[in-house]
Amino acid sequence: MEKIMTNRLDRGFYKYQQEFEEKALEVLRSGWYVLGKEVSAFEEEFAAYTGAKYSVGVGNGLDALYLAFRVLGIGAGDEVIVQGNTYIASVMGITMNGATPVFVEPDEYYSIDVKEIEQKITEKTKAILVVHLYGQATPMDEICALCKKYGLRLVEDCAQSHGAYYKGKMTGTFGDIGCFSFYPSKNLGAFGDGGAIVTDDESIAKDMKMYRNYGSEKRYYNKVIGVNSRLDEMQAGLLRVRLGHIGELTDERQKIAVRYLDEIKNPVLTLPLLREECNHVWHQFVIRCKRREELIAFLDEKGIGTIIHYPIPPHLAEGYQYLGFQAGDFPKTELLANEVLSIPMYNGMKKEEQDRVIEALNAFR
Ligand SMILES: *Cc1c(COP(=O)(O)O)cnc(C)c1O
Repeated sequence: MEKIMTNRLDRGFYKYQQEFEEKALEVLRSGWYVLGKEVSAFEEEFAAYTGAKYSVGVGNGLDALYLAFRVLGIGAGDEVIVQGNTYIASVMGITMNGATPVFVEPDEYYSIDVKEIEQKITEKTKAILVVHLYGQATPMDEICALCKKYGLRLVEDCAQSHGAYYKGKMTGTFGDIGCFSFYPSKNLGAFGDGGAIVTDDESIAKDMKMYRNYGSEKRYYNKVIGVNSRLDEMQAGLLRVRLGHIGELTDERQKIAVRYLDEIKNPVLTLPLLREECNHVWHQFVIRCKRREELIAFLDEKGIGTIIHYPIPPHLAEGYQYLGFQAGDFPKTELLANEVLSIPMYNGMKKEEQDRVIEALNAFR
């Protein structure tokens, strides 16, 4: 039997093969490959999709985060509040600027525990970074209120939440800057690296365009020391094709999730919890199990791949030893790192494949 992998990027390509191939040829034949009309058109379409006024394409999701704090002027001596159970890129976006991450434990929905934020705010706190992890929107009302009360900036990491909304408003549009990744495995994936920010602030959009291109607004006139982080024409063109289908792609993921939620019935597994008004776009379908290693081996035996998002929380990463944390400092975060497991979830997943995943999970004892 064919192995079912956690993700199948080829299926996402073949779904719209002809459109992708036509667009690729169009870009190849255009003679213009970086910062051209595909990028401008994508930026306009992506801004419109999210409901933000502006979007600026960048090289990848990490750069979107790094440049977000950079244009907000957050750096050495500043603190940024972020959930402990995130992908390490969220934290690197903070530390690459010289700022310090201040970790908050997650709640049972794997979102930042809103009740724990206020006690972490100090004189040095400059921003809150909200990560809409796994594709479920974080409830934003209290977080927005805290930002207002303490004069903090609000940045959103939407690398996993393209199209997820809270109370009808898209993730990425609640604060100063929303940061997106278009890494191929993301819900809106490119065929290489890509990223973007969205904002309603014209000057942030302008600064972002300057920073992504060596700090220049005008060619060879460098106002600030920027970076080279540009979304290229090929990725932008192919992303425009995919963006045209994002509604049906999200629906497809949600249908698979409904099946999993209805049909996986096993007392040793914990299924994801849905929170009211927090739309979920199922970047990952994450279950929990106390006997995770046994479960992984059992599923592997049945030809079903799994992956852990993420086995080592950022505060315990070797590279972050200098922050001075140790095992036990964030027990909820660490418990999740030991129990979470992502099961196959991708566009183009066949019904028989879903059946096999469900059957295998129900058979585990
Ligand atoms: C993928 C991801 C990123 C980084 O995106 P890249 O494009 O790979 O740099 C950042 N944050 C989260 C939550 C992610 O899942």
